[in-house]
Amino acid sequence: APLVSLRAVAKRYATGTLAVRGVDLDIDAGDFVALLGPSGCGKSTLLRMVAGLAAPTGGSILWPGGAAAAKDIGFVFQEPTLMPWATALANVALPLELAGMGRAEAAERAAAMLARVELKGFEAAYPRALSGGMRMRVSIARALVTRPRLLMMDEPFAALDEITRFRLNNDLLRLWEAERFTVLFVTHSVFESVYLARRIVVMAARPGRIEADLPIDAAYPRG
Ligand code: ADP
Ligand code: ADP
Repeated sequence: APLVSLRAVAKRYATGTLAVRGVDLDIDAGDFVALLGPSGCGKSTLLRMVAGLAAPTGGSILWPGGAAAAKDIGFVFQEPTLMPWATALANVALPLELAGMGRAEAAERAAAMLARVELKGFEAAYPRALSGGMRMRVSIARALVTRPRLLMMDEPFAALDEITRFRLNNDLLRLWEAERFTVLFVTHSVFESVYLARRIVVMAARPGRIEADLPIDAAYPRG
């Protein structure tokens, strides 16, 4: 069974804009799916509906794993939404503490997660003291520290310079190859979608619709 199934999903905003229409999409557990398309084609709206942050105005979104699966999601947005008054460690530990874990264990797990995104030694740094790429790493660590089944990323690296972006692409792939959480990655970059994803879902010519669904050869060498 897929992790999540969309059937005839549509979204009409109160303004009258039909941002998403007639979308049928199954996302398999462990897949890395890029949602590719130009600005305004409905990618974020679709992502937000899968995330439960916006309600469809038509169709349905089904989670065969039940309500728990629908909530087992990590998010990464383009603007890192870190707490500026908290250290990198405290930012990453927070989701664990909110889930009821004790402070010491949460701190230990957060430190291990920071090390996995190449931020060992920066546990005590505040977000303003970190570069944009490092802040993005903290955001990824915060999203993955609870080991969610689904990681959703909305144009996460679009504001970063190309080298930082390329490094983050590689680090994200390494994390995914190690753990095989499911990824839904929104991007308007053809290169990024081809480089990262195992499947590319294209929203393009007609706004709000899926125009193509392309498997990427899993045998593609990645070094
Ligand atoms: P993308 O992520 O591909 O750039 P969006 O999902 O953000 O596309 O937007 C799709 C369409 O819906 C656009 O025409 C956008 O202007 C419109 N839209 C997005 N959010 C809202 C909103 N909250 N209210 C009204 N219209 C919106
Ligand atoms: P766009 O302008 O469509 O957003 P970018 O030019 O910013 O796309 O690049 C998108 C992705 O491709 C980024 O991950 C970037 O690091 C990577 N990339 C771009 N050019 C190269 C290159 N020559 N070699 C390797 N990676 C590249």
